[in-house]
Amino acid sequence: MSVLEIKDLHVSVETDQGTKQILKGVNLTINEGEIHAIMGPNGSGKSTLAYTIAGHPKYHADSGSILLDGEEVLTMTVDQRARAGLFLAMQYPVEIPGVTVTNFLRTAKTAIDGEAPAIRSWIKDVRQSMTNLRMDKSFAERNVNEGFSGGEKKRNEILQLELLKPKFAILDETDSGLDVDALKIVSEGVNRAKANTGLGILLITHYTRILRYIEPDFVHVFVNGRIAEQGGPELADRLEDEGYDRFLVDSNVG
Ligand code: ADP
Ligand code: MG
Ligand code: MG
Repeated sequence: MSVLEIKDLHVSVETDQGTKQILKGVNLTINEGEIHAIMGPNGSGKSTLAYTIAGHPKYHADSGSILLDGEEVLTMTVDQRARAGLFLAMQYPVEIPGVTVTNFLRTAKTAIDGEAPAIRSWIKDVRQSMTNLRMDKSFAERNVNEGFSGGEKKRNEILQLELLKPKFAILDETDSGLDVDALKIVSEGVNRAKANTGLGILLITHYTRILRYIEPDFVHVFVNGRIAEQGGPELADRLEDEGYDRFLVDSNVG
């Protein structure tokens, strides 16, 4: 039984105006197979939480901890985090010129597993996942994210998720810019990963739309660098009706 625990996490970032505190005491526990939605207004620190879990060098944890099955994640390198079973789908995925989707996947799989995948079953798995995600075969030979549409970028991330089989995935606004068909395909992929591998998911979103296709076990409202309220799926319905206004009254988020 895997568990990802975030404990009293404080994070700051260096800006031109000096050090800025962004996360101000985040507490969150995600068990294997659970889907946690983090919702909140723009600028509340959602992406900062994702980047900190992923090990982005700009974000500095001042105190607190992130434990994956009891091991401190904050002291791990980015590679070690991936090998330990963490996966981050970024809000703005980067292009990797000269590296095809196939080569990227095989290299990443080899790095994470510590050995190259058996070629026959690997090719079969890649084909199956691409079919599941309704991706054209030619996609495999394109350079990662180069000229990808918004929907293609997101599908590519779910393809990685399906094949790399992490323990926990952080999906940062995976729903942004997707039309309904793409949103359904991406959501099905996430639900399959949960069902097949017991993936635990931290689903960061500004809108409730994706939660019609991926049902969260828990919903957390993120405001001004911390969790302001938590509940079940019904909390997402309330947010859809009421928005974030009532949370913003006492905060200084602009
Ligand atoms: P969200 O994802 O909820 O929209 P972010 O985590 O992106 O919020 O940002 C939270 C706050 O931290 C914002 O005020 C943002 O401008 C600031 N911030 C985040 N990253 C940086 C950075 N690298 N440099 C300066 N400010 C940043
Ligand atoms: Mg934002
Ligand atoms: Mg963000």
